[in-house]
Amino acid sequence: MKPIKVVVYGALGRMGREVVSAVSRESEMQLVGAVDIQGSGDSLALPDSSRTVPFSSNLDSILSASHPDVLVDFTIRKAAMPAVRTATARGVHLVIGTTGFTADELDEIDKLAQAHHVGAIVAPNFALGAVLMIHLAKIAARYFDYAEIIELHHHLKADAPSGTSLSTAKAMVNARGKPFSQPAGQQSDSRGGNSEGITIHSVRLPGLLAHQEVLLGAPGQTLSIRHDTINRECFMPGVILAIKEVVKRTGLVYGLDKILGL
Ligand code: NAD
Repeated sequence: MKPIKVVVYGALGRMGREVVSAVSRESEMQLVGAVDIQGSGDSLALPDSSRTVPFSSNLDSILSASHPDVLVDFTIRKAAMPAVRTATARGVHLVIGTTGFTADELDEIDKLAQAHHVGAIVAPNFALGAVLMIHLAKIAARYFDYAEIIELHHHLKADAPSGTSLSTAKAMVNARGKPFSQPAGQQSDSRGGNSEGITIHSVRLPGLLAHQEVLLGAPGQTLSIRHDTINRECFMPGVILAIKEVVKRTGLVYGLDKILGL
């Protein structure tokens, strides 16, 4: 079988560097190029120094020279949308980890992918454990009337509450079909924020990476579902799976849960 040819966009970023390493270790894949607005020169050495791959700050020049099957994007939203237009026009499938797309942008990604007969997997969280945490919380949500979420992240995280905690709360309420109950008479700043009837507590500290605990309560018992991210390697099995899957698909798939069959 021919290896899947991959270009990494945002290759010098924290996630991009992990993707460069992970893809270059895969026997069924071939890293054929790297793109980042930072950096200079026309080649990037692989982390194990075994070889170099073509590097540029110009996406189109790398795509036209290397003819990849898949573009993996971990950049920022403003850079990702032009990249989607460029890559789909060249018939390149997309695996996108960049977060923060609007509903209109997701719609545009789907339309472009359909029009050019390519797949696009957009996943706001590529950590398999985090996706499973949300899935298990959705199951548990049907059996408990009270729930709270504690999300803990590094002190440089820009947003609070985290996108994952908000989407967990939404998924739990949808699965349940009605709001959660709230303890009466406990309005105070130290009770955290509220989303979909679920109280969310956001902890920000150096030393943390990304952690979330969903607590569900009923008389005489609680259930805790917790996911801890120790380092960015946790995202790579999800990214590698998405690269293998996207080449078989046409149009947008939103969320890793869809390709895990959850
Ligand atoms: P980062 O800032 O370390 O890396 C982003 C990289 O993109 C940088 O190297 C930057 O130079 C590059 N870049 C920015 N604009 C560009 C452009 N116009 N052209 C080419 N390159 C450009 O950020 P990060 O921590 O690697 O995160 C990247 C994205 O991935 C963010 O949107 C983040 O929210 C998201 N993220 C997603 C997941 C997931 O599981 N889906 C996990 C972690 C981070």
